[in-house]
Amino acid sequence: MPVLAPAELWEKTGRIRIPELFRLTDRNERQFVISMTHEETVTLHARELGSYRDLPKILYHFQTKGRDEPRPRSGLIRVREFVMKDAYSFDRDEEGLDVSFRAHAAAYQRMFERCGLEFTAVQAESGMMGGTESIDYLAPSGAGENTLVTCERGDYAADLEIARGVPRAATFPAALGAPEEVETPGITTCEPLAGSLGIDLAATSKAMPVVADGAVVLALVRGDDRLDEAKLASTLGSEVRPAQVDEIREAFGAEPGSLGPVGFRGTVVLDEALRDGQYVAGANRTGFHLRGVEHGRDFQAQIADIRVPQEGDACPRCGGTLTFRTAIEVGHIFKLGTTYTVPFDATYLDEQSVERPIVMGCYGIGPGRILAAVVEQRHDDRGIVWPSSVAPYDVHVLALSGGSAEVEALATGVAEELSAAGHAVLLDDRDSRPGEKFADADLLGVPTRVTVGKKSLEDGAVDVRRRTDDADARVDRASVIDWTTRD
Ligand SMILES: [Zn+2]
Repeated sequence: MPVLAPAELWEKTGRIRIPELFRLTDRNERQFVISMTHEETVTLHARELGSYRDLPKILYHFQTKGRDEPRPRSGLIRVREFVMKDAYSFDRDEEGLDVSFRAHAAAYQRMFERCGLEFTAVQAESGMMGGTESIDYLAPSGAGENTLVTCERGDYAADLEIARGVPRAATFPAALGAPEEVETPGITTCEPLAGSLGIDLAATSKAMPVVADGAVVLALVRGDDRLDEAKLASTLGSEVRPAQVDEIREAFGAEPGSLGPVGFRGTVVLDEALRDGQYVAGANRTGFHLRGVEHGRDFQAQIADIRVPQEGDACPRCGGTLTFRTAIEVGHIFKLGTTYTVPFDATYLDEQSVERPIVMGCYGIGPGRILAAVVEQRHDDRGIVWPSSVAPYDVHVLALSGGSAEVEALATGVAEELSAAGHAVLLDDRDSRPGEKFADADLLGVPTRVTVGKKSLEDGAVDVRRRTDDADARVDRASVIDWTTRD
């Protein structure tokens, strides 16, 4: 598939607005994009699949793609140019898509296992891809841009973007029969508010006014929580942005810092953590708050999970403790449905010659990210410890010739035999000290190392060692092949 795509393809799906999309203009002022994924291109061509007899179909490719990263870095994770394996499935209906999706999920599971990765498959946010369901493959490591949330008892795992946690219980002051106004001059945030009233921070509420679909909406989370804008957007079914000061003044009649749900005429979205109990909220009168505010009695709201989970929250399934780990996303699969085929008019005729939209899925793997995750997970203080499935070479032959042409010839002969036996062989015939060669071999981390030295000329034997072992074994040259082929 082409690297460059006409911008009009991306305009059709609205994805032209994605900030990470590279855009460019040719000499004739035509607009192009450097594809970051190929749904638009592949869907355009899927229009050739005209009949139910052509379905199901899976297309895949490996290709260089581009992404205008806001903060590109060295390494293999946050890069602007990368190779992806992307596959696209085309089915007649949702049931067909489900079969394709499950087949990919099973194949991905096997692939990542074979790569020697520790990983977790989690339900995830579909984000810019659209569609209804997605599974993210997260490999926990010291690096990465995702956060894997897991329960200590193993019954829950999710990407932080959609994870749910149960926050600790709040301690409330004595209940009031009705909200009571308190003067809070100069106090505009929850911590000083809780401090000055001598109450639990979790008994306060944080007002987050946003604009959704042109209207001011009040999102309310607990004083010790943070609002998750993506969750709020998906609750409201529209994009959201923070409200500006003039919009706030007009909607609430008060300055930011004194806002609350009581008396507010717009929509209130209340985080689940505030469903019960009485808390302190802004009074919609600058410099004042209300204590004893209770949902249902004092105001009405739409209740949803709109908070960012915190480390130490309880598991939504079993109440166990949730832990957070930084993780690398190595793969992601999506049920796209008709998100792309409807705008591209990619349809097929069924048995009754009725025209129907093709139902799509897409499935991505980042090979570079797999390598990054493998190295993060499998190394020691001397270097990389490659699993044989993804090692760049199988055997590393070290020629400790010390200037001897005979030793060098012997080492070359051993390397050639190993190569003929089907191994990928790296031969170190540099003119350098043994210590340097051993250190470099450990650093590169090829699974098996074979050392040929002066002594090999006398006894016809060589030293072999696995990268995972701490000592050499001396074996006959004749049995080297045998030794390196064994697991
Ligand atoms: Zn649990």
